[in-house]
Amino acid sequence: MDFDKVRTQSRRIRRQRTWLFLYAFAVTCALIVSVRNNNNVEASTPKNLELSEMAPEEFPEYAPVSADENFEAYDEDISVEPAGIVLDDSAKEALEPQEVALADENVVNEDIVTVAKGDSFIGILTNMGLSYTEATNIYTAFKNVFDARNIKVGQELYIASVPAGENNDAISVNKIVIEPVSGTRYIVEKNADGKYESRKEQDELVNDLKTVSGVINGNLSAAMGNAGVPLNVVGNFIDIFSFSVDFRRDIHAGDQFEVRYERKLAPDGSVVKTGDIIFAALQLGKDRYELYRFEDKSGNVDYYDEKGLALKKNLDRKPMEFKKARISSRFGRRFHPILKQYRGHDGVDYAAPAGTKIYASGDGVVTMAKWYGGYGKYVQIRHNSEYTTGYAHMRAFAKGIRPGVRVKQGQVIGYVGSTGRSTGPHLHFEVVRNGRKIDPLKVKAATGENLSGAKLAAFKKVVAKVKAEADQEKEFAAAETDEIGQVIESLNLAEQPQKNTQKNI
Ligand SMILES: [Zn+2]
Repeated sequence: MDFDKVRTQSRRIRRQRTWLFLYAFAVTCALIVSVRNNNNVEASTPKNLELSEMAPEEFPEYAPVSADENFEAYDEDISVEPAGIVLDDSAKEALEPQEVALADENVVNEDIVTVAKGDSFIGILTNMGLSYTEATNIYTAFKNVFDARNIKVGQELYIASVPAGENNDAISVNKIVIEPVSGTRYIVEKNADGKYESRKEQDELVNDLKTVSGVINGNLSAAMGNAGVPLNVVGNFIDIFSFSVDFRRDIHAGDQFEVRYERKLAPDGSVVKTGDIIFAALQLGKDRYELYRFEDKSGNVDYYDEKGLALKKNLDRKPMEFKKARISSRFGRRFHPILKQYRGHDGVDYAAPAGTKIYASGDGVVTMAKWYGGYGKYVQIRHNSEYTTGYAHMRAFAKGIRPGVRVKQGQVIGYVGSTGRSTGPHLHFEVVRNGRKIDPLKVKAATGENLSGAKLAAFKKVVAKVKAEADQEKEFAAAETDEIGQVIESLNLAEQPQKNTQKNI
């Protein structure tokens, strides 16, 4: 919709109203002046004295009106000369009516009303002079496509209305258009029968992919926001990684993000809405995590790494190689075989042959890998702001496991042993949630199956496509930068032939 054009028209019509008012005022002034003059002169001057014989300075309030430039062409149809009073030319000119067909049904006011705080749709209409009943009728008809209670401060309403005529004391509204998002218009319009009908108009939207990357200096959402990533996309990005990353503690200055997400664009190029993240990457120190969105034929959506391995959102309850491992002791109160007394057991014991591989229960950062009293050789992993897991009585740590190291779910962190206060080889596994030890068996089971077979094949195509598109985008961006660079260079060469000036651009 061409709001500017509409606005101009609206302004023109309003200006005409102003002239009309001035015109009416001028007529009144002239009449008062004439009548007063007529009455006054009755006593002191001959009755047939014409206005032209009076010096203009005697009627200072009259002169400026006659000079008013706002008056337009004389309308032959309207006679304004009061009977019995002869006006000279300048007076006539002053009283000339302008071209306004006030009572004409064809006059349409076109207004753009910007919704202000406290405005309601019906309130806006009644303020314009519409009856409450009529305003409600419009609202009801509009509701078929748009609930006008949802208008927001700052939104614009285009309202076409017919002003009140001479015999008509109320205005009437012909058409209202609202365009809450560029390219989508909701219209309510009076039809030939005088009934209101509503409809939705939708410009064809163009699908688009947007890639944004940046360096995180402190806060991830701030970095993404500053780079222009919309809030909902930032939220989804954090959701995708939330189980594996503690955004408060694991993000350090210099870490990087990259996100590629869908957008729908209006024909004017404005973003109408943002859609799914199709690729998300986090560079945390030396470690880079890349995830691709995949929707299978049943419509299940999940994020996988390049190899089709599922992003695990939950802890593995039995984080070890030997899946047949027997639970030798559950969480809670039990009789301690060494201490020979009842006491709380704050984990789960899995009996397993010594040397069985112990896995990280979820992605995270190693916070402890040391001899830890009765726990013997102990590893602790912080997964996110909520969960930490502990692994006790290890025979040995896996290579490279030390505090600060980032691990992935399923990665080997050590081997079953019987170090510390232990009667035989087993894994004592603990889950700490928000600082409190909880029953590991009550933690939601790990979800997210790795892709295989046909799904994996389909997924690999998705990955290839995303990569190809990203490469294309980068090439395009590079070419553009190159072009700009060349232009700048040529300008520099033209203005200032020193080579080093380009550095300052
Ligand atoms: Zn135990």
